[in-house]
Amino acid sequence: MNFNLPALVRNNIKKMQPYSSARHEFSGNASIFLDANENAYGSPVDKSAGEKTAMYNRYPDPLQWQLKFQLAGIKGVPAENICLGNGSDELIDLAIRIFCNPGVDNVIVCPPTYGMYAVNAAINDVETRKIFLTNDFQLDIAGILNATDDRSKLLFICSPNNPTGNNMNRNDVEFLMNNFPGIVMIDEAYINYSNQKTFTQELSSYPNLIVMQTLSKAWGLAGLRLGMCFASLDIIDLFNKIKQPYNISEASQAIALKALQNSAQVNGWIREVVDQKKILRTGFNSLPFIINVFPSDANFILIKVRDGNDLYRYLAQKEIVVRNRTNEPGCENCLRISIGRPEENEKLLAVLKNYKT
Ligand SMILES: *Cc1c(COP(=O)(O)O)cnc(C)c1O
Repeated sequence: MNFNLPALVRNNIKKMQPYSSARHEFSGNASIFLDANENAYGSPVDKSAGEKTAMYNRYPDPLQWQLKFQLAGIKGVPAENICLGNGSDELIDLAIRIFCNPGVDNVIVCPPTYGMYAVNAAINDVETRKIFLTNDFQLDIAGILNATDDRSKLLFICSPNNPTGNNMNRNDVEFLMNNFPGIVMIDEAYINYSNQKTFTQELSSYPNLIVMQTLSKAWGLAGLRLGMCFASLDIIDLFNKIKQPYNISEASQAIALKALQNSAQVNGWIREVVDQKKILRTGFNSLPFIINVFPSDANFILIKVRDGNDLYRYLAQKEIVVRNRTNEPGCENCLRISIGRPEENEKLLAVLKNYKT
């Protein structure tokens, strides 16, 4: 496939001059910084927290190099091929704004899946073409390619998929990477729990590929808001061109740097979640009102029950909140249940045992 990135990019994005921040314009050695109208005396938090390294009175590195170099080592992707966002949600929005002309272009999503692709498209006045997953929650290749026209700029693939929990078949994803004429954006928010290999190692073969991951799930940092995407240098340049210059705060960068040194703890949690998931699956399978326990490569399980709304309300009464997905296509009477700590999962199973249908 001959791939022409500039032909996919909006003209206004190609033509625009990006903002050039103070920290961007000067790169050399300096000891006195009088270029950014910061408070040179310090910040209240630097003093009270006794922090030596953090300098919250200064603007943060707009390209977060230190953090990206550390991520590069963990992910096996060069730092230059990474863009960081205020959660994956910012990166989804940026991708839509780089490639999709409002009122003209379209994106393709495959429900039931993560809702933010369609929401961000709608905010940008971009049409969403919904091609539902098959009965076994796999990609409808023919349907996707039939719905594709020369205004289809982005195809969102979530694997493992939320809320169904399964991986998309790798052959299908590769077929679309080879045949979809726009950008294929693979959301790997749950990749740490998956048996499937990440697609980040395919970037050099696929100039039309963007892979997205997050620190919000396995890394336990949903509150920090840090998403990452991996792509060709040319695509990363476009993200850097249009993102807000200081989109990742100094506090986020400092905390993430610290957290990334704790991969052993994170790997321990991943193993524990996988073990707990087996226990929950066995427990769910023994309950007569649970009609289906869908396979999961993520940190949650989707179940189908006789009456999803009723079970949702029952659990809520017992102060257990799960995600009711009954109104999603193909998910009638389905609830999505995150894997909790062992005592939480035990409580859930005990409460479910007392449920009278
Ligand atoms: C949770 C989740 C994310 C994470 O989004 P953040 O903005 O990084 O917290 C992304 N994609 C999917 C499919 C998710 O379920």
